[in-house]
Amino acid sequence: MLGAVVSLIVVVAAAYAVTQVGGVITLLFIAAVLFLAYRRLSLLAFTVTFTVLFAAYTWLGAPAGVWKGFLGVLVALLWLLNVRPLRKAVITRPFMKAYLRLLPRMSQTEKEALEAGTVWWDGELFTGAPKWEKLLAARPPRLSASEQAFLDGPCEELCGMLDDWNITHERADLPPQVWEFLKTRGFFAMIIPKKYGGLEFSAYAHSCVLAKIASRSGTASSTVAVPNSLGPAELLNHYGTEEQKDYYLPRLARGEEVPCFALTGPRAGSDAASIPDTGIVSRGVWQGREVLGLRLNFSKRYITLAPVATVIGLAFRMFDPDRLLGDKADLGITCALIPRNTPGVSIGRRHFPLNVPFQNGPIQGKDVFVPLDFIIGGPAMAGSGWRMLVEQLSVGRCISLPSSATGAAQAGVWATGAYARLRTQFNMPVSRFEGVESLIARMAGLTYTMDAARSVTAGAIDGGERPSVPSAMLKYHVTEMGRQVANDAMDVHGGKGIMLGPRNYLARGYELVPVSITVEGANLLTRNLIIFGQGAIRCHPFVLREMTAARNPDRSAGVDDFDRALFAHVGFTISNAVRSFIMALTHARFTRAPVQGATARYYQHVVRFSASFAFAVDVAMLSLGGYLKKKEGLSARLGDVLSCMYLASMVLKHHENQGRQELDLPIVEWACRTLLYHAQEQLHGFLRNFPNRLLAGVMRALIFPRGRIYSAPGDRLGRKVAELVTTPTEARERFGQLIYRTLHADNPLGLLQEALLLAVQLEPLEKRIRVEGVNTGKVTALDLPGRIQQALAAGILSETEAAALRDYDRKVMDLINVDDFEPQELAAQAQPAARSSAKFA
Ligand SMILES: Cc1cc2nc3c(=O)[nH]c(=O)nc-3n(C[C@H](O)[C@H](O)[C@H](O)COP(=O)(O)OP(=O)(O)OC[C@H]3O[C@@H](n4cnc5c(N)ncnc54)[C@H](O)[C@@H]3O)c2cc1C
Repeated sequence: MLGAVVSLIVVVAAAYAVTQVGGVITLLFIAAVLFLAYRRLSLLAFTVTFTVLFAAYTWLGAPAGVWKGFLGVLVALLWLLNVRPLRKAVITRPFMKAYLRLLPRMSQTEKEALEAGTVWWDGELFTGAPKWEKLLAARPPRLSASEQAFLDGPCEELCGMLDDWNITHERADLPPQVWEFLKTRGFFAMIIPKKYGGLEFSAYAHSCVLAKIASRSGTASSTVAVPNSLGPAELLNHYGTEEQKDYYLPRLARGEEVPCFALTGPRAGSDAASIPDTGIVSRGVWQGREVLGLRLNFSKRYITLAPVATVIGLAFRMFDPDRLLGDKADLGITCALIPRNTPGVSIGRRHFPLNVPFQNGPIQGKDVFVPLDFIIGGPAMAGSGWRMLVEQLSVGRCISLPSSATGAAQAGVWATGAYARLRTQFNMPVSRFEGVESLIARMAGLTYTMDAARSVTAGAIDGGERPSVPSAMLKYHVTEMGRQVANDAMDVHGGKGIMLGPRNYLARGYELVPVSITVEGANLLTRNLIIFGQGAIRCHPFVLREMTAARNPDRSAGVDDFDRALFAHVGFTISNAVRSFIMALTHARFTRAPVQGATARYYQHVVRFSASFAFAVDVAMLSLGGYLKKKEGLSARLGDVLSCMYLASMVLKHHENQGRQELDLPIVEWACRTLLYHAQEQLHGFLRNFPNRLLAGVMRALIFPRGRIYSAPGDRLGRKVAELVTTPTEARERFGQLIYRTLHADNPLGLLQEALLLAVQLEPLEKRIRVEGVNTGKVTALDLPGRIQQALAAGILSETEAAALRDYDRKVMDLINVDDFEPQELAAQAQPAARSSAKFA
């Protein structure tokens, strides 16, 4: 409301000004000053230009007394602000003192999380003026010949071996031959360097392998993801001693060791840094010799691969109460490798994660003694565990879950697009009903976004980035989009999606969704605490500089750095306020776009939201300080705006990487519109809930002077998108590029495509039956087989045509049919000897 009033006052004042003597010159003066702020000049350049403008304005426009006086004072102040010793004494020092008092205390753990990884495109989005060249210049990710051969060879072969019903229902495990294949063909060695016998794949190739397997079996993709993610191989690779690497990496690469990584326990889930598991430095006997080591006591749960693991990457808190290593008693979180058969380790029992039975279970350790050499990186790395984890998380979190979710979503779009075309109700393919169309459009648009985020970010990792904030954005948004796609696929399939059995190709993927939501940073926590909480400090061009300067023990150097950062920051905020206002007023029409054509507008809108976001962030941080961390509702919304801009940028870059496919434009448009609309709504939600209503009003006036005018994709666009994936187009082919779609009797994705091609090819015959048979009364049967028979008898179809249609109908019904069972077949086969734990003891 206040925003609308402020906007109205500005418009009325401007209208009034032009009716007055010198009004036009006044407006020109104001426009010139706004332009200077928009162009983000340095303080000195701004002061000089402003002074010249003021002189010209005084001479030509004869401004009124008070107004002229105000501007005169402003000029004087600007010149004084350029005298650094003066401004340091009067402004910077007192401000820095107050700032230090407000600055929340930061634990070492938080500091390490903040410093982990690199700042990439996420940093540009915080500037309010992202430099697109930086993103567009990046080389599109490509597979090497050997990576492509792995996808076409072992990966394809693996998918052919997987029978998901047998795995999930009959066996509750992968069959032995699949385990053997995974271990011996390098599936657990994608991130291990070649010199240790690993595959040393690029992040992009690693991601493609996971996506392909996920399109076939969630159990298999979860099994493959873990050894290639945060865990023993990754940690050894980066921090292990040469001896540890030489011993373990070749064994892991050959599949002789199966790793797991145990951090979570019953008392520490999301707040993983608070693990109560301990390792006490003490003397003990190892292989008959007395050595200095660790006595470990721990209780872990939810650990993927634990039941079959041979080596456990264990995180615990290390203490040295007798000061055997130095003068520090609490050394902090440490990671060690513990062989499975170490005395005191209890391992082997299984959890049962939502009917998707990848190996997962608890591990306990009671007085487990291991030498200090078992610490990853040796005793020198005692206490560095948390840093190791957060540093490596920035890569793994971009790959494992986003890739698996994308592969599953691509399979979902592929299957649903075809199924909706094949399934007819009310004498029409259900794909043609607007309600179904809108869901299919959403599935396609979200899946395109997921794939764009996955592949462009993997490309950035291969280019040397370790994008920590984007890894959190991908983890959250790609898995949430996957959840939406899974829901939509189930809705469009109706009962076919619900009836479990060998013919059901959707339900296990649907059941797996909450797993992807929970692991590697549960989504609620990731959205509310991590994306913005970490992003705001890490990616902001000035905040980390200011914090570091304020904490600098060298006071004079600290004040100097703080002063530079502070004044650049003030200019930055003013400039973003002006940029936000002007771009919102003009709907970013005059903003520079790095490309021409249909996508140019989306680049412009991203820049506009970037300026509004950067301005809102500064106001929020300045007015709420450390309290913003507690106001999760606000920081999560700001995180959403950042994520939407990031994802829209990924979509635009992906479109470029794929050679600007004209046919994909409706999908690109749907994705960008949806994301930018969401950015607008989240900014609106942020302003609605901002506690200081006056500041909220000022922000609203500068961010939404014309209201919320950005609109979500319309139905016509949705229809175009749905059409692209419910018919055999090149755009549909691109959705199917990675997934397992080989045509054979056990692969529904291959069979659906075969039937879809037939549906299009035989459509004229169906039409002929309708027009020449049903409409003339020659064909009266209610089902297709009866109609084919009557049309053949009436001479409407030839024998060959009738046979083709019968074959098609059989294929379609084979896909539409569901399983049924004898009642006793559904009872669980194995009877537990004794229940291990009472329901609630
Ligand atoms: C199938 C599966 C496999 C796993 N594999 C492994 C593994 O291999 N190794 C391993 O160490 N761990 C593993 N985990 C553990 C996983 O990382 C944890 O489940 C996760 O960290 C969440 O912990 P929690 O389940 O105890 O939830 P809790 O910590 O109890 O959280 C409950 C809810 O509160 C939310 N929440 C918590 N704090 C906040 C906050 N500040 N703001 C907003 N929301 C918040 C969470 O997001 C969550 O939704 C696995 C878990 C599952 C389910």
